[in-house]
Amino acid sequence: TDLDATIDRLVRQIPDWPEPGVTFRDITPLLADAEALAAVVDGLVDLAEGFGPVDAVLGIEARGFIFGPAIALRIGAGFVPVRKPGKLPSASHSTSYDLEYGSASLHMHLDAIVSGSRVLVVDDILATGGTMAAATDLVTQAGGVVAGNLVLIEISELGGAERLAPTGCAALRTY
Ligand code: 5GP
Repeated sequence: TDLDATIDRLVRQIPDWPEPGVTFRDITPLLADAEALAAVVDGLVDLAEGFGPVDAVLGIEARGFIFGPAIALRIGAGFVPVRKPGKLPSASHSTSYDLEYGSASLHMHLDAIVSGSRVLVVDDILATGGTMAAATDLVTQAGGVVAGNLVLIEISELGGAERLAPTGCAALRTY
């Protein structure tokens, strides 16, 4: 489709970044293009609406903060930031997850989600799914339900969508 071609054209691949052997998909050219940005947000909103009613959109630092609020505004939901350590000022839930080397943790305020609410989790890219799975853990700790996981790009060979079963993950573009 046209949207696929737009994403292919404006998400550039940076070899050996942030370390040798890794190819990083850089979305900043897409963000800077007014028409492409609008088209991508439209596409994400369409996918979001497929998940049914959503009470809150949860965005993962940092690039989930770009798309999350744009989607929340369009579907009439609030926005909840999930942050890296040392950023949130109030009492928080936290969860640790493994990276290729070492581990990381993500945090969310205790009062960010009302128990029983349906939450849409948003990020830019699904790779191994470790980050999105950590967000699911935070939502569950808060007594919420993940209504859907949503990303701009899914790298399917890394198995992230399987890891997020049974909810799975909707993506605008899958490689
Ligand atoms: P995962 O936890 O699924 O392995 O990695 C996904 C997380 O790492 C997301 O938060 C995403 O922003 C970031 N990430 C991993 N690879 C890339 C990439 O190639 N490009 C961008 N923009 N983000 C990436």
